[in-house]
Amino acid sequence: MIIAKVNNQIHRIFVVDAHSHVGYDVDSVNNPNPMAPFGTIDFYKKTYLEVIKVTGGAEWKFNSRGVNYEFKIVPNPPVYEIFKQAAAMAEQYKQILERLENSWMFDYGVCFPFQDKYRADNPEALYRASNERISQVVTRFPVSLKMIGYCRVHPDEGQKALDEIEHSVKVKGLRGLKLHPRSEQWLDHVNSQAAVNVLVQAARFSLPVIFDTRGKESIYAVHDLTKNAKSYLERNEPALVPHLKVIIGHCAAGNFDDAKTYQAISDTNNYGELSMVRSPEFDQFIVDFMKKSPAKKDWSRHILFGSDFPYFFERHAKDVIGFLLTKPFFDAGGTIEDIKNILGGNLLRLLPDNNLPQIQTTPIPNPVAVHAKDTGKAKALEIISRVIVKAIEDSSVDITRIMPMFRENMNDYRNEYLLGTRFKSDGEQKDVLMMCLNLIGDDMYALGPIGQDGTWNKLGYGYFDPDGITALQGFTTINMVDQPEAAWNLIKSSLVEAKQEQKRLAPVRPPQKPTSGKPPAGMKPMKPMKPMKPARK
Ligand SMILES: [Zn+2]
Repeated sequence: MIIAKVNNQIHRIFVVDAHSHVGYDVDSVNNPNPMAPFGTIDFYKKTYLEVIKVTGGAEWKFNSRGVNYEFKIVPNPPVYEIFKQAAAMAEQYKQILERLENSWMFDYGVCFPFQDKYRADNPEALYRASNERISQVVTRFPVSLKMIGYCRVHPDEGQKALDEIEHSVKVKGLRGLKLHPRSEQWLDHVNSQAAVNVLVQAARFSLPVIFDTRGKESIYAVHDLTKNAKSYLERNEPALVPHLKVIIGHCAAGNFDDAKTYQAISDTNNYGELSMVRSPEFDQFIVDFMKKSPAKKDWSRHILFGSDFPYFFERHAKDVIGFLLTKPFFDAGGTIEDIKNILGGNLLRLLPDNNLPQIQTTPIPNPVAVHAKDTGKAKALEIISRVIVKAIEDSSVDITRIMPMFRENMNDYRNEYLLGTRFKSDGEQKDVLMMCLNLIGDDMYALGPIGQDGTWNKLGYGYFDPDGITALQGFTTINMVDQPEAAWNLIKSSLVEAKQEQKRLAPVRPPQKPTSGKPPAGMKPMKPMKPMKPARK
């Protein structure tokens, strides 16, 4: 994460790599585990070390066109705190924290299968085995806190491809789709009905779809395909049109001043991803696109940083990130909003997590949240993070994903998040959505499941918000905790039918039940506001 201060306003810049691979390619390039030596995380560390050579350090500043910009690279506090507490509590996690050192500029990496050697191992679909392998890696700690997994399919497989998308999302927890016409040899018929069907199926699950492209012709073909898929949706399923999201990979390489490419990545449902390009070609491309994009002032809403690791390396990623974070980009007319969009904001906005209601469908008969306050010995966020370490150590549960939660807009981030968990017992799986909320400035945090039938609201909840009342059922009784094990057991009791004689401590103050009736006009949300402070390291 990068914190920027511009005219005394603080901006939090999420950095997300929109394009990387995990597994073993048939061409012998491989990256079996993102956390392993020479894996994705190691690449992020090397990229960071290259970027700070360009910027002059992890903190830097400059003035451009009369505006002062200050930047600082920091870990995303709540995610860092989980790893830090895990390392402090159990020997086995120390190595993970060490491995993550210097990689914290990157908040997330998207990863998907190669044209890998397992494909065709399973009969259900060409990439069934590959997709399952990605899922196994990305939907459990530690990788689930750092990576976002996509599936891959071959559209020519017809119904098998459509079923594979559904399986990958519903059963395997994958959150996007990769298509590769060149390596799968459908470059001569990119714009096919089979591919339209795949895009429509992806839209049903609100998946971003990233295409590999090589050269202008393949970009134009993907553009034509998107137009076809859009017109199909407009005629048949208009509600799905906003969920059609096509990312054109390698959009910048060789396409400086190409009006048709600029159009292809500027259409409402289209985006361009930046891997495979270096400076000065990249710098020229982005400055030219800024001026000529048909999307006008929204040009940067269409551009995503991606690395394509392990095909490209830190010197490529450094060129793109380094240019965006330094004075020449701002001198050329770039803004802090542009950087937020390109480096990670766009990708976060495209994820299904932020486009489909995240509803607690698992029964939560007894919703219980735990609360922690700053003490002389520990900060509230540290105490809550220790409870999550107990969840990590619990062999009956996996942490499948973590999503930042905002207030009002994506600039207002106060270390809150959605935590996806999967409980396994007697061969059964239950997905339980949890939230970590920052209740009073940074002084009190709470962790617990979203109430049954409640919906996660990525922009938080208002006090009198009916959605909030369902979602926050477990949060209204304050259970102050300091023992992580007991706290985790208390949260787990949410899933148990009968209210037990719990080790529940007496509330430190009356439950915060909303009064009935309508809120007074202009009523503010329940969570007290506090001016933002720069995050602690
Ligand atoms: Zn790639």
